[in-house]
Amino acid sequence: MENYPRTTLEFERRFATEDACRQYLCALRWPDGFCCPHCGHRQAWATQRGLYRCRRCDVQTSLTAGTIFHDRRQPLRLWFRAIWYVTNQKSGVSALGLQRVLGLGSYRTAWRWLHKLRWAMVRPGRDRLTGEVEADEAFLGGPRPGKRGRGAAGKTLVSVIAQIDGPRIGRIRLRRMLDASAKSLERSVQAAVEPGSAVRTDGWSGYSRLGELGYRHEIVREEAEVGQHLLPRVNRVVALLKRWLLGMHQGAIQPAYLDCYLDEFTFRFNRRTSRWRGKLFYRLVQQAVSVKPMPPRKRQHGSSEP
Ligand SMILES: [Zn+2]
Repeated sequence: MENYPRTTLEFERRFATEDACRQYLCALRWPDGFCCPHCGHRQAWATQRGLYRCRRCDVQTSLTAGTIFHDRRQPLRLWFRAIWYVTNQKSGVSALGLQRVLGLGSYRTAWRWLHKLRWAMVRPGRDRLTGEVEADEAFLGGPRPGKRGRGAAGKTLVSVIAQIDGPRIGRIRLRRMLDASAKSLERSVQAAVEPGSAVRTDGWSGYSRLGELGYRHEIVREEAEVGQHLLPRVNRVVALLKRWLLGMHQGAIQPAYLDCYLDEFTFRFNRRTSRWRGKLFYRLVQQAVSVKPMPPRKRQHGSSEP
């Protein structure tokens, strides 16, 4: 479909009613038309309460059930505005900014919405990178390179994988890791890169079995510590990520939320060259209806909620 508004004016006109928003969601959730989750029948009646009643088995399905919009007390129009705002700010938004723009009564709601949207940013259908990639790790939360294999206090280790697109960076994948052991690194590469692809790393022993796992493993240089500049694309991504985290969150990342921030950064980075910001809007709405609601455990980090 790839059908999205180009400008804010177009957006305002197009999504002025709940019905218009619902139709858009419907087309994204069921691209081939409605499909009853109980019996697979493809025809339904729309009920007055915004549900779909299967013409065969009579079971009612909610358009937003099982998505981040589920259990909403706010109109879809407001959700759409939130998504439009979030995807149109190039470097990201704060909960306070979102609260102001939407005129939400509560900061807490804005904060929750932002986290739901971050949750939707990368999760579903993560396809793996192909071709040639650079893979490395980086410590977040401290200015100095750390020692590999030992971990550094107060820092979080992140696997950074960047696709090589000529001299440029293609798409990226980020993932938090507990350590730089072979097991952790292999798991990260396998989650992010299709077998058969070329993976460029330094000579750290943790990567030594990539060949056995079906990758073409290229070692750029033996003997390296985390943070040295051997893999230019990965290093560039790490520098941008650190700057972004500093600008967005004053560098104070709570480990519980780091995954969400990594997802948001990846979402924005991989679409940085999109000519139309509306395309990001389209993609995020699409992901928001495909993604499962945040698991209760994720929500529970409420101790640090405002
Ligand atoms: Zn049915």
